[in-house]
Amino acid sequence: MSASSPPPGRPAATNLPVKAATIGLPATTESTCDAGLRRPPWELDALPGYGPGASAGDPGRVPAGVQPPLPAAYRTADATELADRIRAARAALGDRLLVLGHFYQRDEIVAHADFVGDSFQLARRTTERPDARAIVFCGVHFMAETADILSAPDQAVILPNLNAGCSMADMATIAQLRSAWAQLTAVLGDEPDADGRMPLLPITYMNSSAAIKAFCGERGGIVCTSSNAATVLDWAFARARRVIFLPDQHLGRNTGRAAGVPDERMPLWQPREPLGGLTEQQVAHARIILWNGWCSVHRRFTTDQIARARQADPNVRVLVHPECPAEVVDAADGAGSTDYLRRAAEAAPPGSSLAIGTEVTLVHRLAAARPDCTITCLDPVVCPCSTMYRIHPAYLAWVLERLVAGEVVNRITVPDDVRAGSALALRRMLEARP
Ligand code: SF4
Repeated sequence: MSASSPPPGRPAATNLPVKAATIGLPATTESTCDAGLRRPPWELDALPGYGPGASAGDPGRVPAGVQPPLPAAYRTADATELADRIRAARAALGDRLLVLGHFYQRDEIVAHADFVGDSFQLARRTTERPDARAIVFCGVHFMAETADILSAPDQAVILPNLNAGCSMADMATIAQLRSAWAQLTAVLGDEPDADGRMPLLPITYMNSSAAIKAFCGERGGIVCTSSNAATVLDWAFARARRVIFLPDQHLGRNTGRAAGVPDERMPLWQPREPLGGLTEQQVAHARIILWNGWCSVHRRFTTDQIARARQADPNVRVLVHPECPAEVVDAADGAGSTDYLRRAAEAAPPGSSLAIGTEVTLVHRLAAARPDCTITCLDPVVCPCSTMYRIHPAYLAWVLERLVAGEVVNRITVPDDVRAGSALALRRMLEARP
């Protein structure tokens, strides 16, 4: 069926059954964080904010682009028709197409992905398929930017819904970082000491814009992920007396604590306040200046939830992501990247009980794959990442069918003046060794 011929007589897609099948949402919305999760993403495209879900109340959205209205043929297609259309388009495009799916995507997106992984794994996959002319990235905006930086110039990276941003990434803008850097270097100077170490080096989490990655690359800085943050911090301390770590304060604090940095030497930078709300003494004394950003999904996890999980099952193992607050990481039995959590669930002995503190869509998928174990989300309220949620099969079918018709829509292109610096920061990360 072509993109222009709506399916006569088909029921309109109601989003709830799709989500229920995908992330295990119950048939009612009592235990979800937002009744707006009933709405399909295209009803949210024209609205400000991030939409319903864990990021709904976060400040600082930076529009990634203007998502054009989705044609009615896609909005009204049911789940079966969309899956058929995606499969047909994939078959028509063959090896010219690479579809990447983040762990937090819905099952009906993951089902069509050539590779599923975290942002770092997917970025690497980008470099392994030079034959693919189009890379459709089912994730969020900063991931598609990274894929564009790492891929060849003649490969088009496509984000199915331009409104799929990341509220954490949007909590640090390039203007704020430039201002912070100018204020900090005015206090600390910008000359190396007798040992050749700089007074300050920037580390940015993968979850940041390409412009911020470029800023870091141009100042001797580096990118990190949740799986290599400790190695990257060591790398930076070998080259500088202190670092500014952005945008996730929790990953920065948890990594600093694990490296033995005391909390009082990790002050919190408030980007809207003069000198970040700090004194010059605090800045001078700091080892890690933490940016006041967070992941709204992982910030939901609490020590109370851990206590309740242990009360319900004394044998439960609690595993959390390092984007969780430090007291949650301290109280858990283990902490690590999304891929660490996935591997832990897959390797758990039969009969194990796990309570996992990460995005609920992934936890429900892990639970479905291990019926011989009890795997639950630490947060009893179902609250998916509202920006990952913006990628729906209707958008995937649309971008793929446009590709079949010879049209590239929703291409993510990192400007040339940003590409070199961000590639440098990413390359340093890939080459950093423990
Ligand atoms: S889970 Fe958190 S860090 Fe990841 S895309 Fe969603 S808001 Fe951003």
